[in-house]
Order: sequence, then C-alpha cells, then structure tokens
Amino acid sequence: MNDCIFCKIIKGEIPSTKIYENEDVYAFLDIAPINIGHTLVIPKKHFVNIYETPEDIMLSMMKATKTISKAIKSELNADGINITMNNDLAAGQIIFHSHIHIIPRTTDDGFSLWHGKRPYHEGESKEVASKIIQAL
Ligand code: AMP
Ligand code: ZN
Repeated sequence: MNDCIFCKIIKGEIPSTKIYENEDVYAFLDIAPINIGHTLVIPKKHFVNIYETPEDIMLSMMKATKTISKAIKSELNADGINITMNNDLAAGQIIFHSHIHIIPRTTDDGFSLWHGKRPYHEGESKEVASKIIQAL
C-alpha cells in the first residue's frame, strides 16, 4: 500500500517513536495520545482490519500487546489500561492498516466508557446469539 501512513512508518519513511518490534509486528507511540504512553501495535504487513488480518498475525499483535501493557503499567504507573481495536469507519477507524491501541488510564483522567446503553428486548439476546453462533 503506497499511500498507507503506517506502511510508511514501517519502511522508515515517516518518523515514529519505536517501543517494540519483532518479525511480525511494530509498536510505536501514538502521535496524538489519549494519555501519555498511548501505544499502537501494528502488523508489519499491510492488512486493513481485524477481518483481513491472519489469525497468526493477530496472535503476534496480542502477544506484543500483553508484553507492552505490562511495561506501561509498571513504568508509567498506569492505574489501568484499555486495549481497543477500531474496525471500519463506524467504529472510529481512521487509519486503514490494522492496529491495536494500548491506552494507559489513571483513576482521575476524566474519561469514561460506554456502559449498557442498549438493553435487549424480550427474546432478542437468544436470537442474536444464535445468529452469531451459526456464522462461526
Ligand atoms: P484509529 O482511529 O483506530 O484508526 O486510530 C488511528 C490512530 O493513529 C490515532 O490515534 C492517531 O493519533 C494515530 N496516528 C495517526 N498518524 C500517526 C503517526 N504518524 N504516528 C503515530 N500515530 C499516528
Ligand atoms: Zn499499511
């Protein structure tokens, strides 16, 4: 992908603050952090999102995510860490090269999460579960 900003980061054509790398993945500081230490873990090869990223590469990304999360928690004194992956525009994805966000949190950072905003109607949860299960 010639015009992909994260591919350019991998190739060293755009600067980044490297945190970690191995054969499959590269991790670097987000340029516009939610909190200090906000890190992105990306595959070295270009995949658009979770659907396209092969399972073994997703596992490598997750393994790196765990290693880096432990380092962030201990060294940056994070009270908590959010792990997120935005897939598609509707979910807030703006860079279409697969990536996992590691976001350090503090109890007083003022951010909140969404909690149970859309309850199930009678019988809906069973219907939804069976739809998902039959597609697995
Ligand atoms: P998303 O909304 O999940 O696609 O998030 C993309 C993230 O990439 C955002 O948090 C941006 O701040 C971050 N980002 C964009 N360009 C760069 C860059 N050149 N270096 C580091 N992070 C970047
Ligand atoms: Zn790319």
